[in-house]
Amino acid sequence: MNVQHYKQRLLDLERTLSARTDRAVDEGRGAFIDDAHDAGDASVADEVASEQFTEAEQDAAILQQVRDALTRVDAGTFGTCIVDGGPIEEQRLDAVPWTSYCVKHAQARDAATQSRTPTL
Ligand SMILES: [Zn+2]
Repeated sequence: MNVQHYKQRLLDLERTLSARTDRAVDEGRGAFIDDAHDAGDASVADEVASEQFTEAEQDAAILQQVRDALTRVDAGTFGTCIVDGGPIEEQRLDAVPWTSYCVKHAQARDAATQSRTPTL
């Protein structure tokens, strides 16, 4: 496995995501302040702001995982599953380079998450 290849991808992702989260948070704040002031309707501005914060929060969550993965690159544990220490499939790393679970344990985790989520 070419760890440097994934490290480069992770560094690119980190740069992209951190730029995007910074911008989204700024826009979120800007929308709240400007629209609330001009329109006198704080609730609309509040909605706009919270939508942008949600996107920013998702980006921030991935950004955190990307940074964790970079820590594992430096620690020499990148590409191993944190559940059983087994190798993570390269196909999976190509799709989700920041993952810390092999396919088997990622599926087990997804299943656990879904069973906690009530179906409508
Ligand atoms: Zn595993």
